[in-house]
Amino acid sequence: MCRREYDVVVIGAGLVGAAVAYGLARAGQRVALLDEDDATYRASRGNFGLVWVQGKGVGRPEYALWSRASSERWFALADALSEDCGLSPSYLRPGGVSVALSEDELGDLDAKLAGLRHAAGTAAYDYEILDSARVRELLPACGPEVAGGAYTPYDGHANPLKLMCGLHASLVARGADYVTGARVEDIRPLPGGGLEVHSRRGRIAGGKLVIAAGHGSKALAAQVGLDVPVYPEHGQILVTERTGSWLGFPTLGVRQTDEGSLLLGGSQAERGFDASAHARTSRDIALRALRTFPCLGSLRIVRTWGALRVMTPDGFPIYDRSRTHPGAFVFTCHSGVTLAANHAFEASRWVVDDRIPEEMACFAADRFDVPQAA
Ligand SMILES: Cc1cc2nc3c(=O)[nH]c(=O)nc-3n(C[C@H](O)[C@H](O)[C@H](O)COP(=O)(O)OP(=O)(O)OC[C@H]3O[C@@H](n4cnc5c(N)ncnc54)[C@H](O)[C@@H]3O)c2cc1C
Repeated sequence: MCRREYDVVVIGAGLVGAAVAYGLARAGQRVALLDEDDATYRASRGNFGLVWVQGKGVGRPEYALWSRASSERWFALADALSEDCGLSPSYLRPGGVSVALSEDELGDLDAKLAGLRHAAGTAAYDYEILDSARVRELLPACGPEVAGGAYTPYDGHANPLKLMCGLHASLVARGADYVTGARVEDIRPLPGGGLEVHSRRGRIAGGKLVIAAGHGSKALAAQVGLDVPVYPEHGQILVTERTGSWLGFPTLGVRQTDEGSLLLGGSQAERGFDASAHARTSRDIALRALRTFPCLGSLRIVRTWGALRVMTPDGFPIYDRSRTHPGAFVFTCHSGVTLAANHAFEASRWVVDDRIPEEMACFAADRFDVPQAA
């Protein structure tokens, strides 16, 4: 079988790999984006579509800044995709509201955001703690149980499926090859430099390699000497029928899509690789959504699904470069919608430059290396 050659081979066509591959194609690189088949776990097809900054980065201020920078870059990403393929991912950034259903929840929000503002130092971290009357001004449909909330101006949302399709169509329009049915089994260094991957679609060589394969990254990264301890975290989403626009701000548990449906979500559970939807989880999600917005009770639920977040032990991304296999990178995170703009415009540049900037060293995989007791 003949071998094809590229500047960069990207493994994984979910939101992380597709965004990086798109950025590389924009930078004039010859790119191959390889993906497995439809039966695999794909967080990118089951998410909530928030571009969310609020509350992120506790214990790691760099992550708060990184998330916020992406929400700024998202405008440029949305424009670039519209220009390249005519498909807009429907990005809106009205700010976001976290709703508290008790004084305790409100106190937790207050403490978390105060901590993030303190950690931001000289960088501004704007937020407003809302009493129940102020929440009602922003979200008139909220119910009597709402005790308050928090607002930050950096949050927004997008249509994640249009984002995925837009990235795939745009990278192809810019000359990249998008190869499906190409499960990568082996990665081998080439004698003269570069790496070769062996997939069901043949051998493909690249000067550089990006592993962005979601739950497949752990096994692939081990082949280039990196320990990437990702694990699945179950999340579930309920979708209502479409209705007229009544929710002006995305919230953590309920948002209205550009097409008029309400998405209800926010569950987190450890169930291994079980991605199915559970009745009890649906009930819990629906109950909280109804306590927040009682008018949801008149809408029909038309769909529900479960999906698996690609989590790391501390919840922060992994951006790393192999020491044993020059030119090989690993990128993974659990907020691939939020960070899509950073991945397209920044992470792709690291690959071209063959260097991850010093200020991103805190996201290297070796932060999880804990010396074993004798
Ligand atoms: C319920 C839920 C809600 C979420 N809500 C949000 C949200 O509101 N905002 C947000 O920012 N993020 C959210 N996320 C997270 C977001 O969806 C993920 O961060 C993102 O999709 C991860 O993308 P990925 O490309 O890393 O992984 P995936 O989407 O899983 O893609 C990995 C790809 O790699 C391919 N692959 C795997 N192994 C191989 C191999 N050996 N060879 C070739 N290909 C391979 C797979 O086929 C797959 O297509 C949510 C996730 C869930 C589950």
